[in-house]
Amino acid sequence: MSRSWHIEPHFSQRNNWLRASILGANDGLISTASLLMGLAATKPDSSTLLITGIAALVGGAVSMAAGEYVSVSSQADTEKADLAKETHELTHNPDKELAELADIYQSRGLDKALAYQVAYALTTHNALEAHARDEIGINTRIAMGYGRTRKYRFNRLFT
Ligand SMILES: [Zn+2]
Repeated sequence: MSRSWHIEPHFSQRNNWLRASILGANDGLISTASLLMGLAATKPDSSTLLITGIAALVGGAVSMAAGEYVSVSSQADTEKADLAKETHELTHNPDKELAELADIYQSRGLDKALAYQVAYALTTHNALEAHARDEIGINTRIAMGYGRTRKYRFNRLFT
């Protein structure tokens, strides 16, 4: 059966780049316009004004791209570190991790038996993905890149 509903893109998943683009464009327009207005007050010739405008646009674009790259990289590093920690816990304390996942589902309204049943099923399917999503609040497909999620199966630990 098709699982296309699972990878259907939603608007909120594009929030980050949309926010960064709008913030960057707005910042670039305001800072470049401010610089040119200040310079225009000194009555420069038109080529000085043009070159200054181009330099401000290029400098602003490079600066914003570098800032965005550093910001995204540090978030990706944090998520990778979280996933590595979770992987370690899943390997060394699988029973504790199962109970932890069941507690999360109980806190969301499932009764204890059903919470364990769901936790067990999701752990068997892909333990790291379940913990990343429901415990840490990150999507392993996004954190590790679409299509590169390695399944972390624990069938042999629970059978
Ligand atoms: Zn966990």
